[in-house]
Amino acid sequence: HAKRQGRDRSTLFDSEIQMTARSRFALESELRETLQTSSLDVFYQPIMDRMGKKVESLEALVRWHHPTRGWLSPIEFLDVARSAGLMYKLGACVLRRVCEQWREATDRGIHVPTVSVNLSAEQVLVPELPKLVKQICNEQQMPVSALQFEVTEDSIQGDSGVIGKVLEQLVDAGAELAIDDFGTGYSSLSRLKSLPFSRIKIDRSFINNLPDDEDDCAITLSIIGLARGLGLSVVAEGVENKAHEAWLFEKGCDYLQGYLYSKPLPFSEIIGRYYSD
Ligand code: C2E
Ligand code: MG
Ligand code: MG
Ligand code: MG
Repeated sequence: HAKRQGRDRSTLFDSEIQMTARSRFALESELRETLQTSSLDVFYQPIMDRMGKKVESLEALVRWHHPTRGWLSPIEFLDVARSAGLMYKLGACVLRRVCEQWREATDRGIHVPTVSVNLSAEQVLVPELPKLVKQICNEQQMPVSALQFEVTEDSIQGDSGVIGKVLEQLVDAGAELAIDDFGTGYSSLSRLKSLPFSRIKIDRSFINNLPDDEDDCAITLSIIGLARGLGLSVVAEGVENKAHEAWLFEKGCDYLQGYLYSKPLPFSEIIGRYYSD
């Protein structure tokens, strides 16, 4: 914060608040515009088998190519989208883009594995979501079974009647369902039992300090055991080094995801890297 030095604190504070409000407002209208006229982008990060060798699936992660600010990551605009009531629209836009790119690859003879798409709290509360998913898949002649959906513990805290129905209909249509960032949100184990999950993703905050942090080892091991016991597959997020990989392999984690293998990349780069011979 070198810039702050030598300037009057209260003046700076006022102008900072104003700037933030102004730039938030600008961002909001630019986002609205982008969702209306063009599209957000999607990057993909591979989820690897337990050896870290083969790609099992791809996770779709939204990106915004802003005209002046360049590539923006979700932390830089999801809050704005949320407070502007744009989350459902944003989710539909991501889904459309994912299905279009799946179609494009398939037309080029490239077999893309399952694509995992993050769903927001706002999306799972809309009873028409399954219909939208089926419709978009239908437009691209993509089987719904090529999709997996990720929800966080916090995003399934709302009206459990509607959410349960929406998630069940997605699964009935052929999609798989994963619980994301597991262990960091508010959830009860009975939610895990009552909703049709087939996969748990261990939050990267628990993976970060493996194998040195004993508490993280214990938590990760117990989540792997929980998944095994419930007949679910388990993915470790945030695998960044060989020590993480070796420990997780030894403990029987099914799938690995993280910078050790790849950062999220544009679709063309993913195809070039993993699917061209
Ligand atoms: P997430 O679903 O848990 O996605 C994983 C995040 O961790 C991604 O950040 C990814 O780039 C990052 N990551 C992956 N491997 C590593 C690693 O080895 N080390 C570290 N430090 N980070 C790693 P990203 O793309 O910035 O996304 C952040 C979050 O934004 C996502 O967390 C997800 O909750 C949300 N998000 C992203 N795309 C969408 C979307 O299309 N819809 C909704 N509703 N949420 C999304
Ligand atoms: Mg995710
Ligand atoms: Mg996650
Ligand atoms: Mg996470």
